[in-house]
Amino acid sequence: MRQPLIAGNWKMNGSRASAEALMRAVVGGVSGGGCSGKAAEVALCVPFVFLDLGERILADTPVRLGAQNVCSEPSGAYTGEIAAAMLKEFGCRYVICGHSERRDYYSETDALIAKKMVRVIEAGMRPILCVGETLEQREQGLTQTVVASQIDAVIAANGIQSFAQIEIAYEPVWAIGTGRTATPEQAQEVHSFIRARIANHDALIADKIRILYGGSMKAGNAAQLLAMPDIDGGLVGGASLVAGEFLAIWQAG
Ligand code: 13P
Repeated sequence: MRQPLIAGNWKMNGSRASAEALMRAVVGGVSGGGCSGKAAEVALCVPFVFLDLGERILADTPVRLGAQNVCSEPSGAYTGEIAAAMLKEFGCRYVICGHSERRDYYSETDALIAKKMVRVIEAGMRPILCVGETLEQREQGLTQTVVASQIDAVIAANGIQSFAQIEIAYEPVWAIGTGRTATPEQAQEVHSFIRARIANHDALIADKIRILYGGSMKAGNAAQLLAMPDIDGGLVGGASLVAGEFLAIWQAG
């Protein structure tokens, strides 16, 4: 069985004070229990400047730390970039790679994203590879074509064995920050498509890989989404900024 993963993606939000309060509230909620058994793993992917805080507050708690981006090069003259080894040093377990906001606003290509994933794995962490179609692509019937090409590009670049060391997040772009969630059936259809695509290369890896859903996930819709057979957790944006809401999603997992 795949243990669900509920990961918060704080994006570019918070202050030092609010980050600390939110981390402490999440740790308190998770450590305080209240979960009914098949406890989901919890992670917080925070802005780089809060990693030091995160390392200190989350140490020796069940809550894992993650980052939202990484440099595709291991070290050197790359002004403004952050290396995977640095993230590892600050206690990160996860690094989001290829979020649609980075593909869209920062022109990240499949090739660059695949390279970043190599850096993350080399450093001993796990990339969360984000894939997903735009509304226009969905309306044109291109959802599977788009998602397949995003997955296939990483398989071609890094090999199928690398998928034993990653998580995938299916995040339909039209559902991100819009309040418009994919229905559980819509999401399940794409999740099962992704798993089948991986199974074409390696059935065992396909069975084990966690495929998270992201896009306006909240307390009110998490249980139905997480009940689907191929939805193994959530990558939660806006709702991860409110401790009670995020903890309710975790409990649904
Ligand atoms: P929202 O939950 O705010 O829609 O964001 C989803 C997301 O982009 C997580 O990476």
